Amino acid sequence: MLDAERLAILTESAKYDVSCSSSGSKRTNVKGGLGNASVGGICHSFTPDGRCISLLKMLMSNACLYDCEYCPNRQSANVRRTSVTPDEICELTINFYRRNYIEGLFLSSAVFDTPNRTMELLCETVIKLRKVYGFNGYIHLKGIPHADDALIMRAAKFVDRMSFNVELPSEKSLKLLAPQKTKDSLLLPMKKLNNAILYDKENKVRTGNRVIPAGQTTQMIIGASPESDGQILRLTESLYRKMGLKRVYYSSYVPVVQSPKLPASGAGLLREHRLYQADWLIRFYGFDVAEICEEGENLSVEFDPKCHWALKNMHLFPVEINTAPLEMLLRVPGIGARGAYRITNARKYGKLDFDNLAKMRIILKRAKHFITCKGKFYGSESGNAVKAALLLDGIKESREQLSIFSDASVALSALSGEI
Ligand code: SF4
Repeated sequence: MLDAERLAILTESAKYDVSCSSSGSKRTNVKGGLGNASVGGICHSFTPDGRCISLLKMLMSNACLYDCEYCPNRQSANVRRTSVTPDEICELTINFYRRNYIEGLFLSSAVFDTPNRTMELLCETVIKLRKVYGFNGYIHLKGIPHADDALIMRAAKFVDRMSFNVELPSEKSLKLLAPQKTKDSLLLPMKKLNNAILYDKENKVRTGNRVIPAGQTTQMIIGASPESDGQILRLTESLYRKMGLKRVYYSSYVPVVQSPKLPASGAGLLREHRLYQADWLIRFYGFDVAEICEEGENLSVEFDPKCHWALKNMHLFPVEINTAPLEMLLRVPGIGARGAYRITNARKYGKLDFDNLAKMRIILKRAKHFITCKGKFYGSESGNAVKAALLLDGIKESREQLSIFSDASVALSALSGEI
């Protein structure tokens, strides 16, 4: 049986991986089995240090043979090492599930043997969980770079989600900081998995028989290497387009390891938060990355990416709320995707005024500078005045946050969706 000390080492070692938020998988329980994964997915929250709660998140081993510069588990690090067997992981998962501690498993591992042997043991674990222990709950499995395709594809049939972490935003940084990994060892398996997902979709394979029904995700470490936000977002956009990823997660670099190749301080949660906002604009608001950020630039610290874009394009505003196309409403600061859809629905039945917008929870103190309602405009006239008003608004908001939370880091983590 797995003892508490080993479990503590393996869960602590897994905490910096943030690529395990999950959703969209449906796996129904079968007679004699245990658990299920629902369509709505499992809701997760992240603690400020990156731990994901509600999944059992652990490594099979932290005794890594690779030496990624930024990783506390790298071969040259002086940390306690341990490993567990597939059966130990299965028993623990089942026990935790039965006690309602968890809703699923996020399983990763250091490369403690050859990549194939490591992947083989991960594969054995998930197959045992499904077939021997009858577990129908959610499973997210990390892929091992350089493992054979056959092993990866076999595992993909038994889990809900898989992820290969891109880790660093360029090949150059990967070579410098994670020399045993290569671009191909991370991107080719993603491509193959995406092809398998598309094949299942085209051939209308039944939900329970599809490979990784909840798709793929990846994680990038931000700030350990010099790439700009513009470069990071271009890579993100291409991963969504070419690999069909569900999510790209950004993990702000935390200097837990001392190395001359790494910066002395972390990137900070605000940078991570801005990248998530920009990512949202690419996925749901119809923005091209080139509109958000030039290749060599970083995102604005003062304004969120949508406000920043609007301030640079004041000649396109104000737009009349009763006639503007949906694509333009989505670009108005203070109008979210839900708000934009509410407006287009409601205006079919009559002209909207500012009171109607307030009831729809449009953030008017921001939106008023960019819209008219029945021809009326209540915003500031000049671009500079709008900028000043938005800045003031931002300061007020952060003051309110700071009065609720005791310190700035907690406030920022709340802003980035973490608890
Ligand atoms: S492969 Fe690299 S990132 Fe993964 S556990 Fe080993 S040293 Fe850490």
